[in-house]
Amino acid sequence: MHQFAYKNGILHCEDVDLSRIAETYGTPTFVYSRNTILADLEEFQHAFAGLDTHIVYAVKACSNGAILRLMAQRGVGFDIVSGGELWRIVRAGGDPAACTYAGVAKTEPEIRYALECGIYCFICESENELRTINSIAADMGKQAPVAVRVNPNVDAHTHKYITTGTHENKFGVDISRIEALYATIAAELPHLRIRGLQMHIGSQLTEVHPFVAAVQKVSPLVAQFKNLYGIEFWSIGGGIGIVYDGCLASGSADWWRDHPEQMSIRSYAQALIPLLKPLGLRIVLEPGRRLVGNAGVLLTRCVYEKNGESKHFKMIDAGMNDIIRPALYEGYHEIWPVREHSDEGILADVVGPICESGDFQAQNRRIPDVKPGELLAEMSAGAYGFSMSSTYNSRPLAAEVMVDGNKVTLIRRRQTIEQVVEDEILSDE
Ligand SMILES: *Cc1c(COP(=O)(O)O)cnc(C)c1O
Repeated sequence: MHQFAYKNGILHCEDVDLSRIAETYGTPTFVYSRNTILADLEEFQHAFAGLDTHIVYAVKACSNGAILRLMAQRGVGFDIVSGGELWRIVRAGGDPAACTYAGVAKTEPEIRYALECGIYCFICESENELRTINSIAADMGKQAPVAVRVNPNVDAHTHKYITTGTHENKFGVDISRIEALYATIAAELPHLRIRGLQMHIGSQLTEVHPFVAAVQKVSPLVAQFKNLYGIEFWSIGGGIGIVYDGCLASGSADWWRDHPEQMSIRSYAQALIPLLKPLGLRIVLEPGRRLVGNAGVLLTRCVYEKNGESKHFKMIDAGMNDIIRPALYEGYHEIWPVREHSDEGILADVVGPICESGDFQAQNRRIPDVKPGELLAEMSAGAYGFSMSSTYNSRPLAAEVMVDGNKVTLIRRRQTIEQVVEDEILSDE
């Protein structure tokens, strides 16, 4: 549940009027609700209290240092996918010894840095990578903790660009090859220590069934590896979906009562704990989107409107460089006016300033008939929003603020155009 709601006809984040944030910090600006993040985190910790679990937040979902620090202070570890993300963790005061490091193409400098920092475990995705880590560890006189990502070949029923657990994907090692690979590690790679097994079947899953199927499929292997190699953990990945369509309404407890089909943290935990508990291992969870997605909105302003031959357009000051999800994988974000409307709405495309036809935030959608100058909130933009943004079209990166009750804290200044170009070198001619 999140804390964005209309109060006296104005959309608020916790106790703060969003138009106040726009006045102070301008638009587009990402606004995060600190207490939503904390509440969701507590729900995770509470739902899994009966099991030996370690939560590692998937940093790529939203990697602002203030949010990482908040997580670190609550005892959360981190799932990282680059040396840069590890550097962020260290900067934010997180513990590298609580970090798992995933990704299919880790480079030698990244591997060295992770070994120096003493991360909890490398999550490896190929034999080639394992051999590289082994030789770097040998060179450094260390033993590298490793787990392999097993691809269970289970269809997550999510968008094809965010399905990761089938034969078609680049991720992991197929379940049919994993036993032979662990035997190879044990026999031939003395500078590796087999510490666990990992899987991650996809992102934005809204039903529990694919998770159950994957856990059931991989469990026997986990039990076997515990006996053979003494593995201490099984990471079952992230991927728990959030509410995009119905986001604003889902801020109330009633909505959750009326939508039992929507996977909640609790229903996810209740379905999996009975399957995981008998294994007697530490279970690692890697939530990203679920911890921050509904906790953030992108605050933007309507700049112009126009009637095309067949469509009505609302032009806003946020583009696909600020939030690329609609263009990249048909991501859906609800769009609400900051000042509540009572009109019956208008069928429109909500488009940004970027010179690409793919630069839309909504298409053929009935939205309140906002006028130029009015503020809008693009909901559920906390995950894969700012972290995927770019400066395409020479647009400086947006600002980010965090709300706590009635307090607003700037957690990233809006980039300046000078900063966008500062590393460019003009040629002499
Ligand atoms: C992206 C990612 C996650 C987090 O996925 P969400 O859908 O945001 O929960 C977890 N584990 C790995 C390996 C990932 O790549």
